[in-house]
Amino acid sequence: MAGDKSPKRHAPMFELTGGNVCLDFINTLDDRPAQKPTELLKDYSDLARFGEQTGILTTAQTDALLEKAVLMPQDAADALDHARRLREALYEIFSSLMNHTAVPPSAMEILNRQVHHAALHTHLIQTKQSCEWTFDDLTSSLEGMLWPISRAAAVLLTSANVALVRTCLSPTCQWFFLDTSKNHRRRWCDMTKCGNRAKVRNFYARKRSALEKD
Ligand SMILES: [Zn+2]
Repeated sequence: MAGDKSPKRHAPMFELTGGNVCLDFINTLDDRPAQKPTELLKDYSDLARFGEQTGILTTAQTDALLEKAVLMPQDAADALDHARRLREALYEIFSSLMNHTAVPPSAMEILNRQVHHAALHTHLIQTKQSCEWTFDDLTSSLEGMLWPISRAAAVLLTSANVALVRTCLSPTCQWFFLDTSKNHRRRWCDMTKCGNRAKVRNFYARKRSALEKD
């Protein structure tokens, strides 16, 4: 049966709270402030799943890439490596801009290389009234999902919205998000998660200090 050959897929695993796919991508290294951050892109299938969950890839495209990855394990490993490098470059770039410090040239170089790749796979198609950018078949390369991510980053970085990029106030989270709230005072990546986590932390901190006093 053909279905038996399909690589195993996980249940939805990414919390897409960033408001922009490139910020959600940065958040795939979880618990950044911790000594050992949690890698959410553990293998190529995670990367493909990220593409699927964010809507970059259709389910059929995801399946096609997963099958391709099984046949080309080295290329899949390289794609994952490039994805992680791009992610860390994006992290450095957005962090630098938020902190008003110079962007490390190495990070800019990595993003520029990816933006260049994306451009090579971008073309214009006619729409009803005008034209729009579209990508080549995203399954033509195991790195296809990186093209829309790179392009989204380039668009955000060159728009006024870049000033609305924030990190979650929770010191253990610091996930990135685009603050499109009305008064631009959003504090948490997700109120129901970090807002609550902060409450839980405060609860235990209070409990601890109460115990210490005993
Ligand atoms: Zn958070």
